[in-house]
Amino acid sequence: MIELRSDTFTLPTAAMREAMSFAAVGNDGYREDPTVLELEQRAADELGKAAACLTPSGIMANLAGLMTHLPRGGSLLVGDESDIYRHEHGGASICGGLVYHPVTTAPDGTLPLDALRAALAETAGEPRLICLENTQNRCGGKPLPLSYLDAVRELADEHGARVHVDGARLFNAAIATGVPAAELVRGADSAQFCLSKGLSAPIGSILAGDADFIAGARRVRTMLGGTMRQAGVIAAAGLVALDTMVDRLADDHRRARKLAEGLAGVPGLELDPAEVVTNIVLFDVTVGTAQDFIDAAARAGLAVLSPGGLKVRAVTHSGTTDADIAAAVAAAAVATADLVGAVR
Ligand SMILES: *Cc1c(COP(=O)(O)O)cnc(C)c1O
Repeated sequence: MIELRSDTFTLPTAAMREAMSFAAVGNDGYREDPTVLELEQRAADELGKAAACLTPSGIMANLAGLMTHLPRGGSLLVGDESDIYRHEHGGASICGGLVYHPVTTAPDGTLPLDALRAALAETAGEPRLICLENTQNRCGGKPLPLSYLDAVRELADEHGARVHVDGARLFNAAIATGVPAAELVRGADSAQFCLSKGLSAPIGSILAGDADFIAGARRVRTMLGGTMRQAGVIAAAGLVALDTMVDRLADDHRRARKLAEGLAGVPGLELDPAEVVTNIVLFDVTVGTAQDFIDAAARAGLAVLSPGGLKVRAVTHSGTTDADIAAAVAAAAVATADLVGAVR
């Protein structure tokens, strides 16, 4: 089976497993795990922030960040297509008492400045946090331009709001735009990235910000049950991920474009390959439903998923080869031929 449902299917590399087995560890609840401390400092440096905190998942990193920024009743300005709004089970509301203000997400993954301005006016006088997603998953892995990110910072300053970047795939954005990750989050009060997606570590995310903010986030992390003990075994894989798995994301992007070009030639599938600039390929199915296609593709040896509607998503990652791309296109063609046959 060619696994393109998600880059969370990536497996730890041999170097990660080796580093994990020999990692120096201690009790991170007491801040005595040297490997966790090393990863947190390394990650903070990568993001140009003073401090960072390792969490078990991206969802927890986002939640701890949001709850640290805002008191109960505070307003979250989030994209209506964002992971925080769509896929995190209302945690900010349930656990943090925060109020979601969904802002329409543009096809390029940005929250238009006009829409943000309107949401800021509507919530004037309240503590506000603007959440951006980079890359924007549901818009097909779109990286946000630096000029836009800086403009949001300016807008936030005008209105006394804070900014959080959900950068689950921040390094994909950095590689695709050629802008270092630290630059991409220079206007953000906090940022989260996943070690467990394209970077291929088995577990973990990083939340970064200034020292006081991270001290607060550590308390929230403990409250959420996310403070771990000999977490150096996880952190060791994270360090290898940052050392060895960032630059190679360019291969994932190249293969995603190749896949998009191949799929664009398959009757019954619609997409614009030029839109694919990171590792996510979104396409429409014009024969049958998305689920019909997914089932037929699975029979042909290709695993993909639907983020909703007639759309299907394929994600390239470190387990994807050039041969897989050719085979995936062939499987997609078999699948759509199947569906056309079924329609007749
Ligand atoms: C995957 C993802 C998350 C959550 O990360 P987990 O480690 O799966 O909890 C958050 N935001 C975005 C944009 C994601 O793609």
